Amino acid sequence: MQKGANSIYKSLIWGEQVSLAVLDTTALVNEAIVRHGLSPVAAAALGRTLTATAYLCSWLKDEKSALSVTINGGGAGGKIFAVGDGALRMRGFVENPHADLPPRADGKLDVGGFVGRKGTLSVVRDDGDMPFAGTSELVSGEIAEDFSAYFLTSEQRPTAIALGVKIGTDSRCLGAGGVFLQPLPGAGEDILSRTEKTIAAFANISSQIEDMGAEKILLGIEKASYSVRHFGFVCHCSEARAAAAVISLGREDAMSLIAERGEISVHCDYCNTDYRFGAADVEKLFSEKA
Ligand SMILES: [Zn+2]
Repeated sequence: MQKGANSIYKSLIWGEQVSLAVLDTTALVNEAIVRHGLSPVAAAALGRTLTATAYLCSWLKDEKSALSVTINGGGAGGKIFAVGDGALRMRGFVENPHADLPPRADGKLDVGGFVGRKGTLSVVRDDGDMPFAGTSELVSGEIAEDFSAYFLTSEQRPTAIALGVKIGTDSRCLGAGGVFLQPLPGAGEDILSRTEKTIAAFANISSQIEDMGAEKILLGIEKASYSVRHFGFVCHCSEARAAAAVISLGREDAMSLIAERGEISVHCDYCNTDYRFGAADVEKLFSEKA
């Protein structure tokens, strides 16, 4: 598999006691940058969140099952939203996509400052049975630690996580992805400490993704058989859905909006698309309906 392709590699390792996943989300992050005009630190925050959300979605049982993540940390970037489904169709946005912050003392992007450190990470999962909602307190706003805390407190699954997004001087993403090590229930203390030691080697996961790609990283942890799946930035909005929203206003309200503003604009936050309807379009929508 070529580097930079949106892919998740999964394997059961160490005597089938640990589930390992390595994701390359470079293309996904670049798509988000283009759609939303993200600042470098916004790209890092949304990219890390989309990577963890894609991992969560990879466990959904059904292609139509859906999962959403909201991070509300009170930082400069505002809230972060990421959504996906069982077919790994991903999308997401941040409230303040252009907010930028100076780098940290170590030269890295200040994701914690952008996200904020006081607040919550919430996951809503609709997987056919009972919808599940879990919330945990943010730890650092750096996203990886915050998802680790979420897995531990909401799903009772200790999970070692490394996430990273590397942005080049041209504001494009050079490498993005993550490593997840999740011991299966019943795994011993030795396995838990081994996952912690292993994840420590991925402090620069974005550069490792850029240099090696996800498959090599997985095989470097354990030469085991693996599965691979692909994902993309896919939004569910459409001209037809936007038209339905206009019709739901009712003819009278729609016409008064047209009189006031000259057009009705329906905006999709997830992919930053505007659907515009002028007077003639709105007339046509209501005459087709009648
Ligand atoms: Zn959309």
